[in-house]
Amino acid sequence: MSNDGFEQLSAIAGLTREQDGISLTRALIRSLRQLSPDMHIVIMEVHGNRRMTLKGGTFAAHNISMRRFDESGQRVAKHNCVDDLAAVIADPRPVAYDSEADGRGRLVIPLTADIGPLRLVVIDHIATDPWLRAKVMQVVEVYGNLIRLMDSRERDALTGLLNRQTFTTLFELAHERAIRERQPELTVAVLDIDHFKRVNDTFGHLFGDEVLIHFARLMERSFRYTDDLFRFGGEEFVVLLSTPSPRTTREVLERFRRQVAGYEFPGVGHISVSIGYVSGSRGVLPTTLIDRADQALYHAKENGRNRVVAFSELGSQPVDDAGVVDLF
Ligand code: GH3
Ligand code: MG
Ligand code: MG
Repeated sequence: MSNDGFEQLSAIAGLTREQDGISLTRALIRSLRQLSPDMHIVIMEVHGNRRMTLKGGTFAAHNISMRRFDESGQRVAKHNCVDDLAAVIADPRPVAYDSEADGRGRLVIPLTADIGPLRLVVIDHIATDPWLRAKVMQVVEVYGNLIRLMDSRERDALTGLLNRQTFTTLFELAHERAIRERQPELTVAVLDIDHFKRVNDTFGHLFGDEVLIHFARLMERSFRYTDDLFRFGGEEFVVLLSTPSPRTTREVLERFRRQVAGYEFPGVGHISVSIGYVSGSRGVLPTTLIDRADQALYHAKENGRNRVVAFSELGSQPVDDAGVVDLF
């Protein structure tokens, strides 16, 4: 490894060319690999209440959720040595865990943010070479500054979820990923909290906002880390999810509906959500898909709320009392 800093400059130049947060995160992984190809790099996003995470050295899993990214955006094997990560989450400072046996180790660099999640850059199998580590730290620092800017552009300030403006870009990325991962069912789901106006009227806007934050955290815990989660405005949310089959899509959305209905929102109690969705329409404009999911949502509202309706059901099958139509 040369110490002239050239790889580092080109790594940083590569980062500055990216136009959105996901591409930037992928570029970071590529750039770090250029510095030392045998490192194993994963970026984790930590969502939820971090102050409550360290419980006897392990995660209190109900309080946080993690989203992981490797270069391809594909699922990464479950991380071992979770205690290392818990320690960094509880006290966000860069930490190295070295194994004396092979002269390599794990470097965990946390990046805190105002709007976006806490991010952990986790690098395994990194040599103990201090030059290499200094370069890595500097490239990650530049990434940290850039991703904070991306967050302020792409995320909703209240919940930290992606905002409506990023939907089209993320839709295209999700479409490519669905094909690559052979998950043919790309679904757009619109989620709207039922009678949210009543929450505001009864408890006040501050409690209403609190419900929105809890709702966003429930989404992060319920959906897979590869699914994209948006707040479109007010109490309306969108999920872009890819699944292997229509049955799974239905199950995933039903599970979320049940989780919301069963959740005790602090100070407010129980609320429910209505969900409309549309799946697998190759070549259809993203705005058209949103419109179709909205039509299904309207149907869910008209038929009693607290239910999941697919666009494909409209005009044919009546929705039953349980809120579920068995289509299969
Ligand atoms: P429905 O079941 O038909 O969806 O009824 P709803 O009351 O949820 O729907 P409606 O669209 O009539 O009202 C949505 C309310 O959401 C109105 C507005 O006061 C509230 N709202 C929108 N944005 C925010 C926000 O950022 N914070 C809070 N607290 N309330 C918001
Ligand atoms: Mg509503
Ligand atoms: Mg609404």
